Amino acid sequence: MEKKPVMLSGDRPTGRMHIGHYVGSLANRVRLQNEGKYQPYVMIADMQALTDNARDPEKIRNSLFQVALDYLAVGIDPAKSTIFVQSQIPALNELTMIYMNLVTVARLERNPTVKHEIQQKRFNESVPAGFLTYPVSQAADITAFKAAVIPVGDDQEPMIEQTRELVRSFNHIYDSKVLVEPTGYFPPQGQGRIPGLDGNAKMSKSLNNAIYLADDEDTIQKKVMSMYTDPNHIHVQDPGQVAGNTVFTYLDIFADDSSYVAELKAQYQHGGLGDVKIKRYLNEVLQAKLAPIRERRAVFAADLEQVSKILETGSAAANETAEATLQQVRDAMGINYFQSAGRR
Ligand code: ATP
Ligand code: MG
Repeated sequence: MEKKPVMLSGDRPTGRMHIGHYVGSLANRVRLQNEGKYQPYVMIADMQALTDNARDPEKIRNSLFQVALDYLAVGIDPAKSTIFVQSQIPALNELTMIYMNLVTVARLERNPTVKHEIQQKRFNESVPAGFLTYPVSQAADITAFKAAVIPVGDDQEPMIEQTRELVRSFNHIYDSKVLVEPTGYFPPQGQGRIPGLDGNAKMSKSLNNAIYLADDEDTIQKKVMSMYTDPNHIHVQDPGQVAGNTVFTYLDIFADDSSYVAELKAQYQHGGLGDVKIKRYLNEVLQAKLAPIRERRAVFAADLEQVSKILETGSAAANETAEATLQQVRDAMGINYFQSAGRR
């Protein structure tokens, strides 16, 4: 049987997953998984989550199962995708150490996503070394599985680029063809970074501005009704702004009836359409999308033993693949000194 190209993606277990993750990454992964052209791996990046949560391992531990449930709820299928836990794959750490020598501190400090996150997290001068270097560990994750396709949101583009550089350096320096250069697979324009309910540029677990896949009906409704719109649209008859109006941003993404959304927009801009009306419509749209996800989630949540088994089985399979790559990497570098003694 011909080997399919590998697709890999992952999420930090720092909380439950939200509708930004859904359109930014999960929906693409499920679609690509079901198309069957790739061999999918899905990683829960607990080691990466620890790079900025070292003092709160309990949060990571709790979120691990939440993320797994979110995966299963949206349709990531363990029969098709290998779902695994990063910390259970020791080869990833070894690869990280090897790659660390192929990147400069200056290059790490230039990564725009990391730079932005350092500001956002207010690390000031106290950036954990593991945090600054997490793009290197991400390169290890990607290359361990020789992943060719990485379905991610826009903030991940610099990581893919850094991985590509590392792959080129490695293959060049050690005159090898072991590592594979990955390509990012991004959502359509405008969906790679979903804004938050508060109008912030990014819906994020850490900013408390998200609608979660697990939110119940009432919570979704409350969140939608309190959403950021056009702050100058005070009276129903006032003309309102559509651009930058988060309710319309979400409608563009989630509503199937785009001609109805276009009608609403025209009416809103003209004046005479109130925020409550457009929010009610958005609520309907989101409830319809999220109800089946929530129901599937509840089924798996009632059997955590099974979820644990899925992660354990996936991790064992992933471990074998990563070990095989590490062996090739060691061979390429000639650091396989005691091979005959059967070290691995
Ligand atoms: P954290 O605050 O812990 O970094 P996060 O919300 O950024 O959490 P990640 O686990 O870092 O989530 O990212 C998982 C995937 O979801 C990545 O591919 C990322 O690009 C994508 N993603 C995250 N937030 C959004 C968003 N608001 N819109 C679209 N895609 C997103
Ligand atoms: Mg993130």
